[in-house]
Amino acid sequence: MYYLSTRNNELRMHSMDAIKQGISQEGGLFVPETIPKLSNRDFLELADKDYRSRAFKVLSSYLRDYSTEDLNRIIYAAYGKDNFDCPEIAPVKKLDDSLFIQELWHGPTYAFKDMALQILPYLMTYAVAKTGEDKEIVILVATSGDTGKAALEGFRDVNGTQIIVFYPNEGVSPIQKLQMVTQEGKNVHVAAVKGNFDDTQTGVKSIFTDGRFSKLLEDRGKRFSSANSINWGRLVPQIVYYVSAYTDLLKSNDLDPGEKFNIVVPTGNFGNILAAYYAKNMGVPIDKLICASNRNNILTDFIKTGVYDTRRDFYKTISPSMDILISSNLERLLFELCDRQDHQLRIWMGELNETGRYKLDGESLKMLQSILWGGSADEEQTLKAIRDTYRQYNYIIDPHTAVGKWVYDEYREETRDTKKTILVSTASPFKFPGDVLKAIKGMEYIQGKDDFQVLEALASVSGTKIPPGLSELENKPVLHQTTLAAGNMRQAIINFLELDG
Ligand SMILES: *Cc1c(COP(=O)(O)O)cnc(C)c1O
Repeated sequence: MYYLSTRNNELRMHSMDAIKQGISQEGGLFVPETIPKLSNRDFLELADKDYRSRAFKVLSSYLRDYSTEDLNRIIYAAYGKDNFDCPEIAPVKKLDDSLFIQELWHGPTYAFKDMALQILPYLMTYAVAKTGEDKEIVILVATSGDTGKAALEGFRDVNGTQIIVFYPNEGVSPIQKLQMVTQEGKNVHVAAVKGNFDDTQTGVKSIFTDGRFSKLLEDRGKRFSSANSINWGRLVPQIVYYVSAYTDLLKSNDLDPGEKFNIVVPTGNFGNILAAYYAKNMGVPIDKLICASNRNNILTDFIKTGVYDTRRDFYKTISPSMDILISSNLERLLFELCDRQDHQLRIWMGELNETGRYKLDGESLKMLQSILWGGSADEEQTLKAIRDTYRQYNYIIDPHTAVGKWVYDEYREETRDTKKTILVSTASPFKFPGDVLKAIKGMEYIQGKDDFQVLEALASVSGTKIPPGLSELENKPVLHQTTLAAGNMRQAIINFLELDG
């Protein structure tokens, strides 16, 4: 199977090259030339298999140039009890007869980014070795909070790689920040960038497409790649858990074979929900993809009107990993919607670049609306969703998942659709203990408590232990202190990699 670019559909690449390179030269994103299909029989067979077998079924259908044996070895290493704290890897919990929650936060950093970033380093280093690449790979990451830590954990001390993470200094939670600035490893570099996530992401994207800077690296025996969700190697492992959720519900008889259900995804860069779209096209009987946004509701407006307009205020919210105005992976969906016309993508993305907005034609908008339903939750609504979910189900959700829960309720009310629904839970509530406790117990309860006392309090309210990777943060030394302006990111890279020495 070959990969093409959303901005050049003549391109033909193997998956290894697409994963190694991350983003296409002309700025487009890599997409598979066809979407493989799974049959009812495949799903029934997978129902009796574990997560690794499900992962093999999905990944082997997309990554045809990885050998069976090696892919199995990679999957085995990535999804096991060393790095995930439960054997199901991505367990589905039943809240009531129609609502299910899939917990995607049982990996080392307690957010769903681990689902892909635990395997990406293996996929990438394998691709590097097999394609005869002799350069050191420099992973450049812009993070809204969770990707950074998950990528650092995934790539730490991986031979032949360096990893550089930029996070916005206004816009990650205290715990997220602590997780990154205490990161250990010989090949890790972390810096705060003044501004918000879009400033950081735009900075990183411009470095990726800066030919002169790439040349400078090349001359020193290095090359950039991306661990952001624009990399196909990030996306394809995310398709697995949608297949896994469906087959789990087949196994438990909560779904009949072929029975349609909805998925709710708390959305930022549009990677997670895009993976659900691929799963749907592979044959998972997903009906509506419900796209949940926080106060930065650009996607909600887009799905309603077909106008993507970034000329609006950016808000910092209590669901920081969704504080995004430019959802990069939307480009892949648009490519499919307009019948893979790369010139159309060049026009829309060109307009976005130059004017900050673009507008879909009527037909594309209709297609978009047949696939997606969009809604958003503001801060109060997010807190209310945490509180109500706790009261109704005795189940604690983090603020990102709560945005999804709010939008799910809105969707049911507005459409009267009662199909079974899986809400994907993207982070452990322990990553955002202050806001979660505030929602459940009120502001007074957390006043005067420091981050770690708040963690303790959440543990006692929830009757579960603080995840070990979070409790140990209290005693870890801060190893990364750099803060810089977005304009100085190139210089920071030069310093980190000692390129001018
Ligand atoms: C990254 C992230 C999201 C958004 O996912 P996208 O794939 O960027 O849409 C939502 N919730 C949490 C907790 C995240 O870390």
